[in-house]
Amino acid sequence: MSDGAIPFDAASLIVAHDEGNAYDAVVPPIAQTSLFTFNDYDEMIASYRGEKVRPIYTRGLNPTVRMFEEMLAKLETAEDALGFASGMSAISSAVLSFVEPGDRIVAVRHVYPDAFRLFGTILQRMKIDVTYVDGRDEEAVARALPGAKVFYMESPTSWVMEAHDVGALAALAKQHGVVSMIDNSWASPVFQQPITLGVDLVIHSASKYLGGHSDVVAGVVAGSRELIARIKAEAYPYLGGKLSPFDAWLLIRGLRTLPIRMKAHEASALQIARRLNAHDVVEQVCHPGLTNALPPGLTGTSGLFSFIFREGVDIRAFADRLRLFKLGVSWGGHESLIVPGEVVLQQKAQPNSAQTFGIHARSVRLHVGLEGTEALWSDIEQAIAIAT
Ligand SMILES: *Cc1c(COP(=O)(O)O)cnc(C)c1O
Repeated sequence: MSDGAIPFDAASLIVAHDEGNAYDAVVPPIAQTSLFTFNDYDEMIASYRGEKVRPIYTRGLNPTVRMFEEMLAKLETAEDALGFASGMSAISSAVLSFVEPGDRIVAVRHVYPDAFRLFGTILQRMKIDVTYVDGRDEEAVARALPGAKVFYMESPTSWVMEAHDVGALAALAKQHGVVSMIDNSWASPVFQQPITLGVDLVIHSASKYLGGHSDVVAGVVAGSRELIARIKAEAYPYLGGKLSPFDAWLLIRGLRTLPIRMKAHEASALQIARRLNAHDVVEQVCHPGLTNALPPGLTGTSGLFSFIFREGVDIRAFADRLRLFKLGVSWGGHESLIVPGEVVLQQKAQPNSAQTFGIHARSVRLHVGLEGTEALWSDIEQAIAIAT
């Protein structure tokens, strides 16, 4: 568990961003507008010629979205960031900006299932191959990298929680001239700042912890000015998955409490994981905080983990009996959620493979929310009593 230190200036999340404007409102106003008009012809032509950077149309530049992008860049110690309409939009725009037909990408196994499906459908049709590697096996990564264009990481992975030495993997990618990217949704910048570990681009599903209130679907990519400029040049405007001003405003609200929310998720989830680990109906708990040491660069753990029941537990009865934990996908909000592995394994989406995602049929994924550890543990205990 982390020592309570927050690795950045949390005050910068809280101060008003609009001092001197709009009555010094403590919450910034939203530029909820699709377009911005010009005072005269000269102003318009100056803007078209690129002599003056100002908002023209929200798909390109919007002040509220920009405010979120700047806050997130700062949190990730990145030079720049771009906000997207979803995490998948951020992932697809980032990856597609660095590949062309005939290229190959290397990805750690057990990536987020829709990222896996993006690679197995659209990228495959574009003749872009993907090599999957166990991210814990640095020799396998080193063997796969030569000749690749992109190295795509996620750590820890979102169901079985395989955690990687992100700095070591990023260094390998750098050695081979491969652009490295990481899905950092699980740890958030509070517990992992991949840019400081040498990763080129950091991606988030902002729908999870950055938003934190289960009311936004959004994504973001952060990195150097140069790499972000490459995404901004084509994928951002032409694929057009732009973050909306209202969602950016909700994300700004969410970011202000990110550090304290992450501490609360961490503390509750760790206690519940430890108690499950000691419980005789549980075969295995997949939570990076239960191992001897977190991998270098990961300074804390979040609220999402999974565990495997022993044979004979009625998982349907367990799921239906829970009161505080709701059956639901996604995670990162205030509320506690469960997803039974056996349900996910029935999903019709293609490509799909239990082996690819590492999902065990007797596993349950938990998101531990902010309801309080003891209330959540009582809920689990009474549901286990019914199910065994
Ligand atoms: C949810 C999720 C995504 C996709 O994000 P959306 O905002 O739903 O598009 C990507 N990666 C991880 C790890 C996720 O959990």
